[in-house]
Amino acid sequence: MASQNRPFHVFLFPFMAHGHMIPVADMAKLFAAQGVKTTIITTPLNAPTFSKATRSSKTNSGGIEIEIKTIKFPSQEAGLPEGCENLDSLPATPVLADSFFKAAGLLQEPLERLLLEDQPTCLVADMFFPWATDAAAKFGIPRLVFHGTSFFALAASDCVRRYEPFKNTSSDSEPFVIPDLPGEIKMTRAQVPSFIKDNTENDLTRLLKQSKEAEVRSYGIVVNSFYELEPVYADYYRKVLGKKAWHIGPLSLCNRENEEKAYRGKEASIDEHECLKWLDSKKPNSVVYVCFGSVAKFNNSQLKEIAIGLEASGLDFIWVVRKGKDDDDVSKEDWLPEGFEERMEGKGLIIRGWAPQVLILDHGAAGGFVTHCGWNSTLEGIAAGLPMVTWPVSAEQFYNEKLVTQVLKIGVGVGTQKWIRVVGDSVKKEAIEKAVTQIMVGEEAEKMRSRAKGLAEQARRAIEKGGSSHSDLNALIEELMSSHS
Ligand code: UDP
Repeated sequence: MASQNRPFHVFLFPFMAHGHMIPVADMAKLFAAQGVKTTIITTPLNAPTFSKATRSSKTNSGGIEIEIKTIKFPSQEAGLPEGCENLDSLPATPVLADSFFKAAGLLQEPLERLLLEDQPTCLVADMFFPWATDAAAKFGIPRLVFHGTSFFALAASDCVRRYEPFKNTSSDSEPFVIPDLPGEIKMTRAQVPSFIKDNTENDLTRLLKQSKEAEVRSYGIVVNSFYELEPVYADYYRKVLGKKAWHIGPLSLCNRENEEKAYRGKEASIDEHECLKWLDSKKPNSVVYVCFGSVAKFNNSQLKEIAIGLEASGLDFIWVVRKGKDDDDVSKEDWLPEGFEERMEGKGLIIRGWAPQVLILDHGAAGGFVTHCGWNSTLEGIAAGLPMVTWPVSAEQFYNEKLVTQVLKIGVGVGTQKWIRVVGDSVKKEAIEKAVTQIMVGEEAEKMRSRAKGLAEQARRAIEKGGSSHSDLNALIEELMSSHS
């Protein structure tokens, strides 16, 4: 049992992928800023990401330092190449992804050793560690789940899983309304994740099932969102789950200085000052930012379509391409049309590798965001008040798209129709040109921008003292403290 004499102490245990680690680094800063002793548990090769991301927190949190503890990642035991400790560093083969989840499944014992040693007050563990609920229970520690997505996506996927509406359609492209979910939200069978509709049992489907069961038995969930963004879905999911859920986001807003915004997850491939100088030379709301997160990776012909579409739009842009030094074909550059970069000089900036995303989105020159609808990116776009072109690829991204286009009405879909892991559905240059123009130019674009700016304003208020997210975080801490003492 957690001892009364010990200080209030939160353990955070994120899954080893950037989309999961980045918000948890921010969450650690938030807890520490409230004076809470905070420890992040991770593996040795992921530790530097957290130490860099949280280096400024000591000054922001009245001297509370975020501790980072490591446990060995059993790469070899699970048949992974040495040094593979992050999902993003895996070569894109499904077999290795399975091995990665297998390795993650072997972390229970080392985690339990740390829980025994430190006796934290609570454990916030990623949804991909279903066994964490039982591990914490052994020591009388409450376990909270962090999914890293929106209330909307949690609620929508719950309805799709429960009612299986995709079974009643005559084709992959016939739209159905998601049953029971407020708002008459439409999607198609082709957009439903394959692990839900394929009806086959495998390691991933078993893991997700265990994750659902563990969530029901957990103390509750913490959500990177703010109440005003999706009140109907926050209420709905709380009711469905029958558990407490605390909304404490947008987590990215805890990064206030440029230096903090520039380092999130990885060292950027462009100098922060060079990037800001480029943006400073542009008019307000004039630049389209194009980025597809840390996992999606398009083939060369899709990249070429994006290049041609952006050029045809005549708009200024920053385009992040996940091709770096490690790619064999980087020197060939055959994914770019002939003479593209020369023609785009001063008009379009290509960042090869990792961009300082939040720094760019928050700059006044940014005017629109072409996103794969990963939840972190979507919420960062909302917090920056930007209209979006939604280009979902896989995971729960098609649900996030529906929130943006059908509920919030701050974006237009580029037209991806199929859920396909990593590479996504293909999109033609004409569709890209049309969609970016729609969010940047004209009356509709202005309406979307004005709605997005309104949400950004509400997001900022939510995290200030007395705001909904700030209050919920404090309510969570107080509740855990009172059960602790
Ligand atoms: N990100 C970044 N620079 C990049 C690409 C991504 O800083 O070049 C960050 C982005 O700001 C977000 C996270 O990586 O916080 C990506 O998470 P998201 O949920 O959007 O997508 P995922 O990578 O999980 O598909």
